[in-house]
Amino acid sequence: MSGSPLRVAFIGLGNMGGGMAANQAKAGRIVSAFDLSAPARDRAAAGGCKPASTVAEAVAEADVVITMLPAGPHVRSVYAEQILPNAPKSALLVDCSTIDVESARAVAAQATQAGFRFADAPVSGGSTAADAGTLAFMVGCLEPDFADVEAAVQPMARAVIRAGDHGAGQAAKICNNMLLGISMIGVCEAYALAERLGLDPQKFFDIASQSSGQCWSLTTYSPWPGAVATSPANRNYEGGFATAMMLKDLKLAQEAAAAAGAATPLGAQAEGLYALFDRLGGGGKDFSAILQMLRGRLGEVPGA
Ligand code: NAD
Repeated sequence: MSGSPLRVAFIGLGNMGGGMAANQAKAGRIVSAFDLSAPARDRAAAGGCKPASTVAEAVAEADVVITMLPAGPHVRSVYAEQILPNAPKSALLVDCSTIDVESARAVAAQATQAGFRFADAPVSGGSTAADAGTLAFMVGCLEPDFADVEAAVQPMARAVIRAGDHGAGQAAKICNNMLLGISMIGVCEAYALAERLGLDPQKFFDIASQSSGQCWSLTTYSPWPGAVATSPANRNYEGGFATAMMLKDLKLAQEAAAAAGAATPLGAQAEGLYALFDRLGGGGKDFSAILQMLRGRLGEVPGA
């Protein structure tokens, strides 16, 4: 990449993209930003970006194009209809959205065929990490392109790991989130059983977090209030990682498993349980709030 300030086009300025684009600007890059939503464009302008009125205008002079869009269909159409026909062929294209592996590979193939370098680079960490520039990136790209991808996402990142070739970043993301969904349900079931058995939930936490049951869902993100000061359970499950988002990722994992012929019975169970919790009104709550459903006490903060 050249020594002059990098010109970044940022498409998709929502909960995640807004903070990510602002961190690109904060790093001294010239950021041309577009979103269909006018308030999102205004927020990007307040964060030091230059709002564009179309995708075509945003990408016209870009060294790097970064997209942070809701799902596969958005990514497929924005690349095919707006980015590939309008960006300079020298631009590095980086899609940070969480989408299905098949769409990621299809967009990569189209981009490569049109003469572009492309990476799928989904992220771990919610909007707080997006604002703070501390996201973890899981990258699927050709090996020789990785150094430039790493440099492109650096102002938004605390870790950047190449998972493999095109699609591997999305594969890593959905496998990780399937594991997270399953482990959270396991932790919630154990808390619910401990409570029924008359065990103090805090004692259960103290013991399990030092025993073979310990995992991230328990020791870093405990769904029982009080055990881990920073977990969303302490603020009525507000913020954090929404149940609706977890459900989206579990659906992607099940679609990928069906397409690849993998057996993921616990992933399927986790999808079903999160779908039920979503339908019971939990979609906007942090995904650890599924404890309320498993205790049979929807809407009640445990221990309150
Ligand atoms: P969001 O809905 O807040 O933002 C998406 C933005 O894309 C919106 O502002 C929307 O207006 C814009 N958009 C949609 N179609 C567009 C188009 N054709 N052209 C331009 N802009 C368009 O969603 P988000 O929470 O920012 O999530 C974005 C992606 O990041 C998703 O794929 C999500 O799964 C993933 N993700 C989210 C989180 C999280 O905690 N929110 C964490 C990790 C990954």
